[in-house]
Amino acid sequence: MSDFFLRTPEKHPLTWRIRDDHKPTWLKEYQNKNGYVALRKAFKFMSCHEIVSLVQNSGLRGRGGAGFPTGAKWSMITSQPDQENIRYLLCNADEMEPGTYKDRLLMETSPHLLIEGILIAAYTLKANRGYIFLRYEYVYAASCLSRAIQEATAAGLIGTNILGSGFNFELYLHTGAGRYICGEETALINSLEGKRPIPRAKPPFPADVGLWGRPTCVNNVETLCNIPAIIENGVSWYRSISKSSSKDTGTKLMGFSGRVNNPGIWELPFGISAREILEDYAGGMRSGLFLKAWQPGGASTAFFTSDHLDIGMDFEKVSIAGSRIGTAIAMAVDNKINMVSLVRNLEEFFSRESCGFCTPCRDGLPWIVKLLVSLEEKTGYYEDIKILEELCYVLGPGKTFCAHAPGAMEPLQSALKYFMEEFEDGVLNKFIVNTRQIW
Ligand code: SF4
Repeated sequence: MSDFFLRTPEKHPLTWRIRDDHKPTWLKEYQNKNGYVALRKAFKFMSCHEIVSLVQNSGLRGRGGAGFPTGAKWSMITSQPDQENIRYLLCNADEMEPGTYKDRLLMETSPHLLIEGILIAAYTLKANRGYIFLRYEYVYAASCLSRAIQEATAAGLIGTNILGSGFNFELYLHTGAGRYICGEETALINSLEGKRPIPRAKPPFPADVGLWGRPTCVNNVETLCNIPAIIENGVSWYRSISKSSSKDTGTKLMGFSGRVNNPGIWELPFGISAREILEDYAGGMRSGLFLKAWQPGGASTAFFTSDHLDIGMDFEKVSIAGSRIGTAIAMAVDNKINMVSLVRNLEEFFSRESCGFCTPCRDGLPWIVKLLVSLEEKTGYYEDIKILEELCYVLGPGKTFCAHAPGAMEPLQSALKYFMEEFEDGVLNKFIVNTRQIW
């Protein structure tokens, strides 16, 4: 392995323990590599409020895609009085964003890192029960987590009076039935309760009324995996490992897929440019191809073009440029791919995964798919493009109950913006014009 890809504890808190053969790091090896040191430090020397302050000051933001500050989320729970002290910590491992598999990497290679993060979070939030809500297709990750939970339980790290702290905690692995919407925290809570997984109205927020009506915190896998290193090494170190040009702190699992020479995931500092990831890590586009477009962080993020490759990969810079960093697992679109077909494929997914609760999303997404199919088959009308533009508005931010529909509109709207000529290529009859509005 060249020095370029060497992982170190100082720069790669999430991945430095990963074995070269990518087999899971089990308990003994994890402990030999400083595993559970942060947990002992937190339990022995830190109060819950100190840990919340530390996480707040670290600047850690949720890694599931939305980027909500983790310390602020935790402080909402700890500030809630709860006489019965029944609280839940949920780990969102329902990774269903097309093209994204970063949480899977962590669960399959470093299951104890996740468990350590969960234990520190649960201790801080005074949650005595936790669930890992896992995407059901992740069969191997489920077996890795099950074994790691057994090992941690046998070692007294899960159970009663953990490390003599008086803290009790039970951890359960729950595999979902496979719905994209379960990645939304309130739909995940409904699903755990055995109900139809539709998002809940907020407020009340899960911090007040969550799982079975009790205060609940939902954190993503990668977010929780950051916690041990922050506890162990402190705020200044954590803030120093991202690029100085970035307001975001720490590292992020980032990647590039598509027809690149070396598709993959790497732990990289926030602020690194997309061009560096594509060219230095992913090895550039395959021979004979060039980059036409790319999505920075999953199927629900707006397309960029090759003109945007020098954007620094962090929440703010990607947002200013017109998209979202999302999961930071980027997808390269090459010149052989037709944008209408690609967007049709994405919208079929979003249409299938709509929970059906609200009309614009339930009925609008299949309509969009039909229009895109007609353009793909070159039997569309000019009016179809106008209707697509109007549907982008009707399903856009603030028009539906949750963010699923607006997320589904981001790739469509950006493809219309940058690649209109490919949509117009699908028009059979250019003489029929838009005569009505749909809203
Ligand atoms: S926007 Fe779609 S996924 Fe979200 S609540 Fe409405 S129907 Fe369900």
